[in-house]
Amino acid sequence: MSKIQMTTPLVEMDGDEMTRILWKMIKDELLLPYIDLKTEYYDLGLEYRNETDDKVTVDSANATLKYGVAVKCATITPNAARMTEYNLKEMWKSPNGTIRAILDGTVFRAPIVVKGIEPCVKNWAKPITLARHAYGDVYKNTEIRVQGVGKAELVFTAEDGTETRELIHNFTGAGVLQGMHNTDKSIESFARACFGYAIDTKQDLWFATKDTISKKYDHTFKDIFAEIYEAEYKAKFEELGIEYFYTLIDDAVARVMKSEGGFIWACKNYDGDVMSDMVSSAFGSLAMMTSVLVSPSGVYEYEAAHGTVQRHYYKHLKGEETSTNSVATIFAWTGALRKRGELDGNKELMEFADKLEKATLLTIENGKMTKDLALITSLENVTVLNSEGFIKAIRETYETL
Ligand code: NAP
Ligand code: MG
Repeated sequence: MSKIQMTTPLVEMDGDEMTRILWKMIKDELLLPYIDLKTEYYDLGLEYRNETDDKVTVDSANATLKYGVAVKCATITPNAARMTEYNLKEMWKSPNGTIRAILDGTVFRAPIVVKGIEPCVKNWAKPITLARHAYGDVYKNTEIRVQGVGKAELVFTAEDGTETRELIHNFTGAGVLQGMHNTDKSIESFARACFGYAIDTKQDLWFATKDTISKKYDHTFKDIFAEIYEAEYKAKFEELGIEYFYTLIDDAVARVMKSEGGFIWACKNYDGDVMSDMVSSAFGSLAMMTSVLVSPSGVYEYEAAHGTVQRHYYKHLKGEETSTNSVATIFAWTGALRKRGELDGNKELMEFADKLEKATLLTIENGKMTKDLALITSLENVTVLNSEGFIKAIRETYETL
């Protein structure tokens, strides 16, 4: 059988620890036997990031801008313990943060839904994709612990020196103060990434804030979304029969719980932080959650939502058997290959991605899975496989399709 050919390379970002081990297994067992894989390889493993003063991360993001599609393995974000462990020159920044800043992207996270792993919310039949605005608000705040009596004001000084003042509060005793901001530019990018991704995946888009209370701050988010929708996306949404829908955040939460899923939920930074953890844990497992960074200009970077699974890696180093779930990493590859195929008009590549996803899900539905899923599945008499055994089982299923 001849291998599937590719015209444009994928940007491949290798990573760390257990996911780096899975990365190679996935390539060897599930990709290289079927595809004449063309990638531009960047080693984002911590050792090489340190060796290149993290230049490799910046290079990989720029390559993504050039080629349009990347697939990324989970990477270590250094902390004090990693400084010693890897003898680092500096506490390098989170690669995801660096890449996100260069691509100006929004992260969309979606659960992989499979029979046998039931969401806690019974009526969620389809995945809910969460889009979190990843700039500003309380994540870039300034705070004051007020010690006693005094007047708190919000002051904006324009370039020409004119001041705009608003009274926040006349304190009669101790209290707290917080200042935060966002920019039209960032909100516009977020809106375009959300509308574009809704069109791309043909799903409804929900967006919610607290604009009834926050009449300027949150209302600006609502207005920017509405303006961009009307001017740039409405016609396309109508053509596809999908909907953009704005409501209050509390109403959205109530509706999400009663929905059957199958839409994108766009959230402000804090709401997205909190709600993504709720949605992902209610769907079952972090190991079954995909993540894609989408830039407003239509550049895509696919990855798994989980980390490098450090605990399993140390077991692996000691020669002990691991049962690490590779599904989200496999879906990062299939997402990237499908998008590459779409952009290049490469039907074979798109069909391969569909078939590999199907084989992965079917393997689980046939009762073969890793330990994390075996612990939560509703299927009976399942076989628990080790990391490599699970990937080999997927290949066997693939061969039968
Ligand atoms: P983690 O890799 O997400 O793993 C946390 C725990 O979740 C694991 O110990 C394991 O539980 C379970 N788990 C996660 N993924 C799994 C999988 N695929 N299969 C089976 N079980 C899975 O988080 P961490 O170990 O706390 O963090 C390790 C490193 O990852 C950190 O250095 C962090 O900076 C990095 N990180 C990177 C990214 C990214 O690149 N996108 C995201 C998050 C974290 P049990 O041990 O109970 O089996
Ligand atoms: Mg969080």
